[in-house]
Amino acid sequence: MNPSDRKKWVDVIFPHPPLQRFTYEVPDRFHQELRLGHRVLVPLGNRKVTGFVVDFVSRPEIENLREIEDIVDAYPLLTPELLKLTRWVAEYYISTWGEVIRAALPPGIHQKSNLIIRSIENAPLPQEPLSESSKTILSIIQNKGKISLRGLEKQMGTRRIRFELAKLEKMDLVQVEHVLEAPRVHAQLEKWVSLCEGLDPEDIHEISKRAPKQAEVLAILTKHGGAVRRSNLGVDFPVLRRLEENGWIEIWEEEVSREPYQEYAVEPPKPVTLTEEQTKALSHIDGALKKEKFRVFLLHGVTASGKTQVYIESIRQILDRGKTALVLIPEISLTPQAVQRYRGTFGDEVAVLHSRMSPGERYDSWRKIREGKCCIALGPRSAVFAPLENLGLIVVDEEQESSYKQMDPAPRYHARDVAVLRGKLNDCAVILGSATPSLESYFNSLEEKYTLCELTHRVDRIPMSKVTLVNQGETKTNDESRILSPLLREKIEERLKKGEQIILLQNRRGYATFLRCGACGNIEECPHCDITLTYHQKDHRLRCHYCGFQKPAPEACPSCRGATLLYRGVGTQRVEAEIQKLFPKAQLLRMDQDTTRRKGAHDRIVLEFEKGKGDVLLGTQMVAKGHDFPHVTLVGIISADTGLYFPDFRSAERTFQLLTQAAGRAGRRHIRGEVIIQTLSPANPALQFAAEQDYLGFYRWEIEQRKELGYPPWGKIVAIRFKGARRERVAKAAHLFAEQVPPDNLSELLGPASSPLSRIKRMYRYQIIFRQKRDLDPSGKKLRGEIRSALTRFHEKTHFPDVRVGVDVDPADMM
Ligand SMILES: [Zn+2]
Ligand SMILES: [Zn+2]
Repeated sequence: MNPSDRKKWVDVIFPHPPLQRFTYEVPDRFHQELRLGHRVLVPLGNRKVTGFVVDFVSRPEIENLREIEDIVDAYPLLTPELLKLTRWVAEYYISTWGEVIRAALPPGIHQKSNLIIRSIENAPLPQEPLSESSKTILSIIQNKGKISLRGLEKQMGTRRIRFELAKLEKMDLVQVEHVLEAPRVHAQLEKWVSLCEGLDPEDIHEISKRAPKQAEVLAILTKHGGAVRRSNLGVDFPVLRRLEENGWIEIWEEEVSREPYQEYAVEPPKPVTLTEEQTKALSHIDGALKKEKFRVFLLHGVTASGKTQVYIESIRQILDRGKTALVLIPEISLTPQAVQRYRGTFGDEVAVLHSRMSPGERYDSWRKIREGKCCIALGPRSAVFAPLENLGLIVVDEEQESSYKQMDPAPRYHARDVAVLRGKLNDCAVILGSATPSLESYFNSLEEKYTLCELTHRVDRIPMSKVTLVNQGETKTNDESRILSPLLREKIEERLKKGEQIILLQNRRGYATFLRCGACGNIEECPHCDITLTYHQKDHRLRCHYCGFQKPAPEACPSCRGATLLYRGVGTQRVEAEIQKLFPKAQLLRMDQDTTRRKGAHDRIVLEFEKGKGDVLLGTQMVAKGHDFPHVTLVGIISADTGLYFPDFRSAERTFQLLTQAAGRAGRRHIRGEVIIQTLSPANPALQFAAEQDYLGFYRWEIEQRKELGYPPWGKIVAIRFKGARRERVAKAAHLFAEQVPPDNLSELLGPASSPLSRIKRMYRYQIIFRQKRDLDPSGKKLRGEIRSALTRFHEKTHFPDVRVGVDVDPADMM
């Protein structure tokens, strides 16, 4: 037999640039062990990096390939199913497989090598004169003794130093070596001590004469059944080492699992009687679970109709069948309350994946799922890639939430749509739940692609809230009633007297959303973005909510030196000040990005308010999402128009959803709630339907608007976005890209044009929108093909290293 016949090759993909496939030879020693999905250490250029084995190759095109150096983990991190799923996601979202693999794995596990540069003692004099920058580089290295390449690049403020470095190395002035960086996360280990067999009490007595401390340890170990944590022994390590040398004890390490939700007590849930509607929905779902066939359910249930109970009962079914379940919850509603609900029923079977957890905690949770120690994975967007095997059910709660869509970096996937595909790959049921389903999902259910289950009543027969629209255009424009109408003020006062809780929503943070000069009309804008600066009263500063730029608020107009500066546009801080002025005794909790920045702050506010602490919960959209506050009887929406007039085809839908959800917070448990919506455009259909809590009415109206314009679900949209520091370059790149699209293409091209937010973080933004009618290409495959080839041609024919090109399939917004 030809020895080369026994050779094996694999394709490896890297989750970091270059993000491409490379073929490697598998040395004999790994033939048995190596499987698809394994993480391997390989040489790449002059570095060593970890990548993933994605394919076996029977005969590579190139000879003498480099070898795999090591297999990193005991088992493949990526299951065969995850390999398939990530590959599909890459295809659909016109992204690279490596990028999707990166998104699918917990952060911090990828290893890269770094270059360390050392100075050489008594280095010879340079053989030829050095350039100025080489001199600077050399002096930095000599001063520090050693420095990483990244550190050096930072100090020099440029990445173009490799050429100089290579020269310095050649002249023996510095030494360059490759060091593999430790991954940022690893398992946490704990030392344990145990007794060896065959020790009898006589021996301990004997030892106590010579070494009382050693005997003490042995006595403790005997008392505790043989094994004790090293940290609980309270003796110095040399004592233990001597015992170990004598063969009396054994010291070993065991992994500690970091589980932040452990501290929340698991209370067994109270038995619930299901409503008729819940029972009906469940029996539909049960049928599908029994058949183990792919089927998507849209569970459309009004707020407080008990959707979660339907999820929980379905999960119970699936666990009884020995399968696993994946539950997606929007980031913002993933509170201790939500976790408790699932942990209360399923205990330690639930593994939580959450971006507010530390990387170590996430890594532990992730591995528990991968190793089959938990049957339920619960988490936001990225949990859609949780490494569950034998999947039987996927739940996507609040499926309409835009936070399921990843914006940046690529892959710009939508977790709900990935969930549906994952259901298909696994032949399992998928439940999409919502009080206000996305237009796409409801459309699919009417087309009978999804099965519609409806919960039209609230549990416990709580009536729907009474909603009143207040036309703020009619009220006198004195400052006070501009923020709180007389009606809302009166209602707040009433609740405060009764000791009931109130939620106020104003979907803008800060104090004033802009500062305008009373004399010349000048408005303070961010120097880096196409956006006005928000005034924050607490520290009297102006801030940009897009890039974080801030500066002290001016005392006079920077343009005309006029002293009258007007605070315009109401933010949450302004409402807070107003409430404090009008109701000085009311206890107010504010919840927005400014008050929830610290870890745990968001959960703390939610828990406090739930327990009845605080009279008013005021905040941005955070206050509207999924929480169950039993004592809230009034919800006030300060201005419903925020966001209604964004130049975006989804703005009406977003506003309708937000208002309906906020309204749903009022009046749970026995008392009918009241909702006051303040607006300047009371005739707007989105607000009208929200006030009537009429989802179907809204759907019918909005779907017609979309049809006329060919927007989803009637058409498919892909946005190509261009970003760069120089406007002309960005515009030129966008135009050249458009030229690569053949004139006979199926889709309609909008742009290239400057994006509505034309500049963010010093970057100018342009976009091209591809719009394609649904019936021409239902799966969107042709459109994706067109875009892929345009992209390839663009990269081949043009050179724009200074312009970033991003592809966004099914974009969440058009901004
Ligand atoms: Zn001015
Ligand atoms: Zn900015």
